[in-house]
Amino acid sequence: MKKPYLILRLRPRAAAALFAAAALLVCTVFCCQPLAREASVPAGGGTVYLTFDDGPSAVTAEILEVLEEYQVPATFFVIGKSAEEHPELLQQIHQAGHRIGVHAYTHDYSLLYSSEAAFWDEAEACAEIIESVTGETPTLLRFPGGSGNTVCRVASGDGGLMQRLTQGCAGRGYVYHDWNVDPGDNLGYTLDAYTLAQRVVEGCRGKDSAVVLMHDSASASTGPEALRSIIPQLIEMGYSFSTLDRLEQPPHQTLAG
Ligand SMILES: [Zn+2]
Repeated sequence: MKKPYLILRLRPRAAAALFAAAALLVCTVFCCQPLAREASVPAGGGTVYLTFDDGPSAVTAEILEVLEEYQVPATFFVIGKSAEEHPELLQQIHQAGHRIGVHAYTHDYSLLYSSEAAFWDEAEACAEIIESVTGETPTLLRFPGGSGNTVCRVASGDGGLMQRLTQGCAGRGYVYHDWNVDPGDNLGYTLDAYTLAQRVVEGCRGKDSAVVLMHDSASASTGPEALRSIIPQLIEMGYSFSTLDRLEQPPHQTLAG
């Protein structure tokens, strides 16, 4: 007999608690969840453009395996000299349906940014190798260090060189691409796969269009393992994948001069 009495006595307090719990539930269901979804999945579904610079190398073959496993396309900005040494890897990238763009021939800043002519000589040498191996004329280009690099001015002593190089792309049949997600996988040490994956996923979060800078040079050896975590996480977040030739408004860095 005491229990009902207790319940009756506590009724106003219990009712208040019940009301608070119900309010919390309504807030969770109707407020918090849409906000959480909004934070991870951009309206209309976002697109991730995975890009790999400075290859091809043995790492490229591993990356291609992972991309094939998940049926995800990517864009590779290759170094001409490495492509010349490994035409079979360049051919593999091409045959798998990925896009190949021009990066440089040497990736030696002091050479390739020594003058306007030197840069275009390197770019054209790289393009010729791509064309001779794949049969396709490349139209995508990524400046080593990005268009906002500060090494160009140092190498050339010419504050206006990057501006002239970026302006010169269209006339030579190139569209240049920078990035808006940089996990820092090429800073002179090998980033562990977990950190690399987390940086990429967090960098993409909330972006409608995420251009991810990764590397497939020999030192970027944790990339393939990281991709096995990155790709499923981004799919879970609602992203789809594409190649840079399909990106109409590429993010461009501010020219440093
Ligand atoms: Zn590079």
